[in-house]
Amino acid sequence: MESSTIAISVFVAWFALFLLVIPVLQRRQVRKHVTRKGGTVLEIRWKPFLSWVHERNTKRWDVTYTCSCGQALKGVLQTSLFTGVKWVEGPRPQEVASLQEGPVHSHA
Ligand SMILES: [Zn+2]
Repeated sequence: MESSTIAISVFVAWFALFLLVIPVLQRRQVRKHVTRKGGTVLEIRWKPFLSWVHERNTKRWDVTYTCSCGQALKGVLQTSLFTGVKWVEGPRPQEVASLQEGPVHSHA
């Protein structure tokens, strides 16, 4: 194999990793995070431009989900290669366990 062919292959591999593989994995992390908190994910949308304004190596996701109490809500989550998933904006889902104690519905 010529060295230029190798260079192109390496480039394509990195390109695929950063634009295809990592976003798919992080989207899955976001879904898992919301589900673990008691929400049911309806839609996850990547916010590509805003992400770069904030921090490098992080992505922000608009998430529409149904809380365990049945209310449809929207939140913004951030994923990072190093620190995992973090809730950035919007109401968090209320966990099923705390729902049984009464309808406390602040979602703060
Ligand atoms: Zn709720």
